[in-house]
Amino acid sequence: MTVDLVVRGARVLTSQFMVERAGVAVQDGKIVALAKDPHLPEASQVVDADGKILMPGAIDAHAHIYDPDYTHREDWKSGSEAAAAGGVTLLMDMPLVLTVMPELARQKIEVGERESLVDFSLHAGMMTSEEHLRRMPELAEMGILSFKAFTTKPFLASYDYIEELLIRASELGGRIVVHSEDNQVIERGVHRVRDVEGRKDPLAHHDSRPPEAEAVAVARIIESVARVGGHYHVAHINTARGAELVAHAKARGLRVTSETCVHYLVFTKDDVGKWGPYLKMTPPLRTKEDVRGLWEALLTGGVDMIATDHAPGTREEKEVGWDDIWEAWGGIPGVETLLPISMSEGLHRWGIPPTVLCAALCANPAKAFGMYPKKGELAPGSDADLVVYDQSLEVEIRADRLHYKVGWTPYEGIVVRGWPVLVTVRGEVVAQDGEPVGRPGHGEFVRMGRWR
Ligand SMILES: [Zn+2]
Repeated sequence: MTVDLVVRGARVLTSQFMVERAGVAVQDGKIVALAKDPHLPEASQVVDADGKILMPGAIDAHAHIYDPDYTHREDWKSGSEAAAAGGVTLLMDMPLVLTVMPELARQKIEVGERESLVDFSLHAGMMTSEEHLRRMPELAEMGILSFKAFTTKPFLASYDYIEELLIRASELGGRIVVHSEDNQVIERGVHRVRDVEGRKDPLAHHDSRPPEAEAVAVARIIESVARVGGHYHVAHINTARGAELVAHAKARGLRVTSETCVHYLVFTKDDVGKWGPYLKMTPPLRTKEDVRGLWEALLTGGVDMIATDHAPGTREEKEVGWDDIWEAWGGIPGVETLLPISMSEGLHRWGIPPTVLCAALCANPAKAFGMYPKKGELAPGSDADLVVYDQSLEVEIRADRLHYKVGWTPYEGIVVRGWPVLVTVRGEVVAQDGEPVGRPGHGEFVRMGRWR
């Protein structure tokens, strides 16, 4: 038989194993075989990936694409071009204002299917009202089975509401994603730093949000899961203590998962001295002990996946923060550097096994959100979302090589070993040598599955 595409000669990497001189065969957008070179079929197109890593495309479980709300910062086209160039083949869009209502979610899907190069799914949020709870079954019908809530402002929901959300989501086979910082701890911290001390300097934001805020909220919601069941996914975990709580919850048999973000694995709050408001994000950066603890948590189950919380602001929206940090946009770009930085830092600085990194970037997000093994895996029947990653490249990250609309990156100047040189989504090439080549509108909306 002759198939559409064969990638051969690679070091095939999955969440389970790494095997040399092997590859995959692709037909009609799906993987039909994974085998050592001699056993691969004939193909109309053959990619020789000699010595390079072949892995599934990365999944970013937490990316704000903003389209159609704030397209001056990012839209589906620019966001998905950046994703493709960096080896992300599935973006899970995290809303800021849209998608809490089915009619708005439909609008978002429409724009995505018209403009995106890569596949995408949606989280619904922000969940704050009774009306939002009533619309959940409709969202579930649409394949949106992840419901985002906050324990703090600006989308404050009470712990009681979040427990109710957990029950309702669970009845639908869905999960809740919670920005987990305890509101009382945050309010007290912000009051002290901003109102009492009167600080406006860039570090004031970081100092106003104590690390205990995370542990308090995570522990509280874990007890809700213990009482009523359901699946709680902790958004952007940023403290070693928070990750420990997740690992402990798993040991109790509770369905709790977590993501951290690349920036919590690379920066500490000391870096704010150099970058100022450009490193303003919520939750803020922590200490080097937390950085180490989060990397180690990839091995203990305290952290399941690495995401980005991609939420770029323009330079102007950042620059105002030099004088008054409270006025600056909170959020940074990240989708394009997710895979290269995670792989390079993980393998070479922290000694994380490649299979663990692959699980954190590919299989685990797909599993947590009911899209496995269609997504996040190299196996017969899975979508042919492929990344050929050339470890021999040494790349200095520079904003002018990236594809974000905002034109800056906090990772400027960081040198990584390796970059994706070929990226496919369902068998179609969407990026080559770090440049997007895909067709806007190739991306499809992917439905989440039920967890039971
Ligand atoms: Zn976010």
